[in-house]
Amino acid sequence: MNRHRQIGLEQRGGDDVGRDPRCMRTDELEQLGHARVSPLRALRLHCLDCCNESAQEVRLCTAVDCASWPFRLGKNPWRRKLDPQERAALQARLVRKGASEAAAAQKTGSEIPASDFDRLRVPNEIAVDLPPTKRGVAEGGAS
Ligand code: SF4
Repeated sequence: MNRHRQIGLEQRGGDDVGRDPRCMRTDELEQLGHARVSPLRALRLHCLDCCNESAQEVRLCTAVDCASWPFRLGKNPWRRKLDPQERAALQARLVRKGASEAAAAQKTGSEIPASDFDRLRVPNEIAVDLPPTKRGVAEGGAS
């Protein structure tokens, strides 16, 4: 058992309950043995834990109703990579949007937050959400 386990618990009505991780410091999470991983990676690790660390068993998992099942191989199947044309179009659209926001900010004298400038950059591994019809899913989504 994790000797720092108590860090993740609090008392409610005389019983131990889990603390809200949104209110915890990162060093507290680390003391509990958690690493800084993406939610997708966390799902993959959860699946490996579920299958006694066997990647082959995760691959073969038949629990198709499990909420983790679509993500069990560490990828988000609801997203796909852009082809070069789509990537260029998205980049141009972001630049246009950034330019119009910068012009508006100049008119009003307001500042553009750093995060708005960050949006102008298109990362190499960009992915987009597809409508259900393009994913091969029947209208109304999978049941
Ligand atoms: S998808 Fe399969 S391997 Fe992953 S948590 Fe669910 S049951 Fe376990």
